[in-house]
Amino acid sequence: MRMNEKEANRLHVLKMIRRHEPVARTDLTRITGLAQATITAIVGDFVRLGYLAEEKAPLATGGRPRIALRLNPDAAYVVGALLAEDGTMLVEVANLRGDTLNRHVSPIAWRQTLDAYVAQMADIVRDGIARSAVDPAAIHSIGLALPALIDSESGIVNWFPAFPPDPIPLAAILQERLGLPVRIEHAADVIARAEHWFGDDLQMQDFSLLMLDLGMGFSRYVDGQVRAGAHGLNSELAHVKMVLDDGPACVCGARGCLTAFASVIGIVTRIAAIRGEARPRIKAVRGLFRDYARAALAGDGDARAIFDQGGRCLGLAVANHINVSDPARVMILVREPLLRELIAPAFDAALAANVLPPFAERVPVAFRAWTDAHSSRGAAALVLERLYRASGG
Ligand SMILES: [Zn+2]
Repeated sequence: MRMNEKEANRLHVLKMIRRHEPVARTDLTRITGLAQATITAIVGDFVRLGYLAEEKAPLATGGRPRIALRLNPDAAYVVGALLAEDGTMLVEVANLRGDTLNRHVSPIAWRQTLDAYVAQMADIVRDGIARSAVDPAAIHSIGLALPALIDSESGIVNWFPAFPPDPIPLAAILQERLGLPVRIEHAADVIARAEHWFGDDLQMQDFSLLMLDLGMGFSRYVDGQVRAGAHGLNSELAHVKMVLDDGPACVCGARGCLTAFASVIGIVTRIAAIRGEARPRIKAVRGLFRDYARAALAGDGDARAIFDQGGRCLGLAVANHINVSDPARVMILVREPLLRELIAPAFDAALAANVLPPFAERVPVAFRAWTDAHSSRGAAALVLERLYRASGG
């Protein structure tokens, strides 16, 4: 469900104050483009809730000091957590501004039953809160990012590759264990949200983000919000098909998906098959990937061909996305530097050959290094957005 106009205005005002503080009410009308009466009502509510503090601040231009508004960072605390594909869970405690107060990474072991797995998640979140200086009673809510097909609005995981293919009310289960509101979202949407909130280019309103690592995630940001589909589900560029007939098997059960060609797991699985080696275990994938990448750089033609094909598939998929959606820009976050280096030539060629010229002139596409810094902050932003949007009544 998209937010209504009132919620969107509240979120916009608080984001703008966060960016420009300290800021006078009169300047907010110019900065936000909203009417004075709207600003007055929204700001009044935030002051009542304690989210905003008023202070006398001198103007940069000199003259009489004016009342300026500032976010009160300690008005609320939230937890942002990220379940990573490599068996770790990152937990961060953040304040109302989205500043990180504490961050901790724990291993999370595979468990046979979902209940046992979620119990472990709850313990890791509790431990993360205990490691911060924040009183657990002061935590407002928890945002959790995970690599699964999710209806964020209802908190239901529709497809979590490691578990049976039934819908799982994961947010409700975790909420009951922790006694706190929990919101869940696909990891790529969370990282896109972090780019929007905390990225170098502050508050980008429209972009597409592709995360490329062991698997692949994709998020579309439109009008300053994550775009969910008509059924509330996140986008899955990973499973667009790259072939008409046969292709490598994908974790989703189909064949020829983009992720089976271009992700780290996809590339490693294909090179291992060519070499007649056993299908690698997940824990061994990253190490094997680096071995294969070095072999490709040293002149191993078979390995090089698999990387080229991965780059070509990715360039084609991104070109198709641009032709369909006309995003303001596309960012591809890559965790393994050698992956970027090895797929770049074929990617560039496929992109150039397949993006329609009017889009090619307008839509920049850039690779960026992916670090953990943004991911948990995005999960914190997920629940902060809720908090910002909700009216004090
Ligand atoms: Zn697939």
